[in-house]
Amino acid sequence: RKAAAKAAAHQPCVTKDGVRIEVFANTGSVKDAEAAVANGAEGSGLLRTEFLFLDRETPPDEDEQARQYQAVASALDGRPLIIRTLDVGGDKAAPYLPIPAEENPALGLRGVRVSLWRPHLLKTQLRAILRVAPLGQCRIMVPMVASLDELRAVRAVLDEAKRELGVVETIELGVMIETPAAAVTADLIAAEADFLSVGTNDLTQYVLAMDRGNPELAARIDALHPAVLRMIDQTCKGAARHRRWVGVCGGLASDVVATPILLGLGVTELSTTASIAPEVKARVRDLSLDACRDLARRALDQTTPEAVRDLAKAL
Ligand code: PEP
Ligand code: MG
Repeated sequence: RKAAAKAAAHQPCVTKDGVRIEVFANTGSVKDAEAAVANGAEGSGLLRTEFLFLDRETPPDEDEQARQYQAVASALDGRPLIIRTLDVGGDKAAPYLPIPAEENPALGLRGVRVSLWRPHLLKTQLRAILRVAPLGQCRIMVPMVASLDELRAVRAVLDEAKRELGVVETIELGVMIETPAAAVTADLIAAEADFLSVGTNDLTQYVLAMDRGNPELAARIDALHPAVLRMIDQTCKGAARHRRWVGVCGGLASDVVATPILLGLGVTELSTTASIAPEVKARVRDLSLDACRDLARRALDQTTPEAVRDLAKAL
């Protein structure tokens, strides 16, 4: 099955009933972008930009960032690239970001909160992104959003950066859905976001109130928990009200058991670990959206992740 998937890795990805699903890969370096292309990914749904910012004494300047983003974009050879703004904080601290000690780093100054706390860092990053050519290949995505205000604040800095650089082209600005607050207000956020992408790793942590790094809880932190699926369902419904697309860039996108459920809930883009992309594509080609919708409806009514998994495996 794996070999067959590999052989078809570079074929387009459409469900049995003709619905186009984008299968992208997550990246964190130029090497990852090359791996994405080699595995037939049709773009990158998440570039984690932290690789440029950690383990150093000073933040990368605009030129260095622009060079790196350009290198990733070029390696993707025209395929879409969704660049996530800096997602550091709490446990992932840098010496030039003196975040005060926190009792609960996962609930502290992180993601977009750090960007808005140090707006010059955000401005520099956005300016570097705006220098990538062709700019139309890039979209920007904001992590850890909990309310629409944060998106508005980032958009204001983006508009300022565009004015400074004389950029008139539009660049899509999307929001990661990884807090329960963002999921349940997805309809409000989608009114102003160009797209939504569900970060199931953090969303699961926050919905289940289980630390994603706690080994004692690891077995129970399951993104197929019906509570998480209901959050994704609400996200898709909110986005649909404004005709925005929803992707998944968290680990659940790389779980082929989850693929039909996600499609059934209305997700149209999956950003996977590059090596899994061929199998996810093969799974999509085997599915019809009607069956996926029926499965998703039943999954939402289960009481445990195990029951959800059994249902999905039976499809
Ligand atoms: C997520 O939280 O699902 C996600 C994709 O972001 P990260 O794993 O980088 O926190
Ligand atoms: Mg996250």
